[in-house]
Amino acid sequence: MSFLRTEGIVVREVSTGEADKIITLLTKGQGRVSALVKGGRRPRSRLSAASQVLCYGDWVLYRGRDLYSVNSCDVIEPFYEIRNDVVKLTYAAHFTDILMELIQENQPSPGLLKLLLNSLHMLAKTEKNPDLITCIFELRATSIAGYAPHVQSCMNCGAAPEKTYSFSFRECGFLCDRTDCVERDGSAVLLSSGASRAIQHIVYAPMKELFGFGLSQEVLQELARVTGRYLRERLERDFTKLHFLKSI
Ligand SMILES: [Zn+2]
Repeated sequence: MSFLRTEGIVVREVSTGEADKIITLLTKGQGRVSALVKGGRRPRSRLSAASQVLCYGDWVLYRGRDLYSVNSCDVIEPFYEIRNDVVKLTYAAHFTDILMELIQENQPSPGLLKLLLNSLHMLAKTEKNPDLITCIFELRATSIAGYAPHVQSCMNCGAAPEKTYSFSFRECGFLCDRTDCVERDGSAVLLSSGASRAIQHIVYAPMKELFGFGLSQEVLQELARVTGRYLRERLERDFTKLHFLKSI
């Protein structure tokens, strides 16, 4: 029998059979993995707590004929603060929705998993504005997945920092205010200097400094329009989990 031992986080659970469930894990070594939890819906099952959404642990799975089954799990971080708060849980669902799109089976994605864990940590354990965490997550996740926009300088002429930039969704990056640069994409969105700097930071900062900045409400809204649209256009789909928050 072949075993797989890996760290991973539960991002989905679906009931099956009388008392079982199938969970989807985002793992360090194997990308996305589905696994059966025998008896996982029985309250006294030793795996019922571990197999709930957002539980991060060290898993031992064994490979059945068509599906892995969970053998054991040592819980590393259950993220209770998020699970018990419907608003935080909605943000977390948005993050995992995006990663379900970006991480395939058998495609190890340690960078994306680390980004998710750090974002959940910020959401669970700090007072950081969840909308800012969301902007950071959206743009950094698309960048790690290979869709990083060119934002170090103007894409057309190479002009750097002190210039005023626009963000071109069509060309995927910054354009400066020189006439021939502006003309490259007339539909590019003009940015404040605060939003430009935030975008550069999110794309290029080392992971440990990624969340180390704040923004005014106005600049945050501007940033959110860019990161949300960039995500939608690059991945060619809408992510609707956060719409729920606007309706309550
Ligand atoms: Zn330029």
